Amino acid sequence: MKESDIEQSLGDVARSLRGPNERRVNVLRVAESLGLQVSVALHDSPDSTQARIELQRRPPMISIFRASETRGNRRLGVADEWMLTRRERFSVAHEIGHWIASKQIGVSQPSGTRDYWLQERWMNTFAGSLLVPEWLLQGWLAETPEEEPVPPVAVWRWATHDLHVSEEVLASAIARVRPSSAFVKLVRTSKRSDSSSVLKVQFSAADSLQVPARGTHICDAHLDADLSNRSMGRKVSPQWTLGRCPPQDVILMWRTSSPKVESYPGPTVCWLSMTRLAERTAPLHETASLF
Ligand SMILES: [Zn+2]
Repeated sequence: MKESDIEQSLGDVARSLRGPNERRVNVLRVAESLGLQVSVALHDSPDSTQARIELQRRPPMISIFRASETRGNRRLGVADEWMLTRRERFSVAHEIGHWIASKQIGVSQPSGTRDYWLQERWMNTFAGSLLVPEWLLQGWLAETPEEEPVPPVAVWRWATHDLHVSEEVLASAIARVRPSSAFVKLVRTSKRSDSSSVLKVQFSAADSLQVPARGTHICDAHLDADLSNRSMGRKVSPQWTLGRCPPQDVILMWRTSSPKVESYPGPTVCWLSMTRLAERTAPLHETASLF
């Protein structure tokens, strides 16, 4: 089977596993319907493994690893879904994808590093398709015209309140179904060399627009000033260059998740949402700040 066909088949299976009107998908119900067991393993080691599935075990077992001061193991039933964090729900969905790929689609174990990461990408897409119902997403996107960025605060609300998934999962799903949109998550951190403040890309998702890869440092005084001065905003940015991407005509919206608070110890997180500037939207010389 071709790689694109495998990805398509995984997406089809993910859609078939959801209930017709299910908004927040119960991943433990999905696992049970496939004959898979799920357990949480508490551990006190520095091991950062999130989850794994034992495909050869009868029945197959998905283990979620959770750091704790004590050790222990607990089997989860369908009614225990509320106990899972957003990340753990995604991990269960990802591991279900491995089982579907192996048992229903006939994907063999990865034969090398490239194959491994390709399969990991497939399973992440599968998990996103399972956890973000298209009908719900299309309904939400109908509220935002194609030529406007999807407001970052809406992405946060839909992800957190409606779907119980991370903003990254939802942003990836939006970029898949609306190719004109793109998202970048930035974290304010300090450079090792001289301790100066810098914005670092922690996540990016795009289809037709170009966005910098994870780990890229962004040095853009204008952007930095906008993000520092206002926690939310919108801006028309013709020929805008982000990182090493080529200049692009975009409309940009942003949201910073933690305003400057002296006592806040962590880095400030900033979400950028972009869309390609339609030619009829605004004169190219205009740079508008609406709020
Ligand atoms: Zn995996």
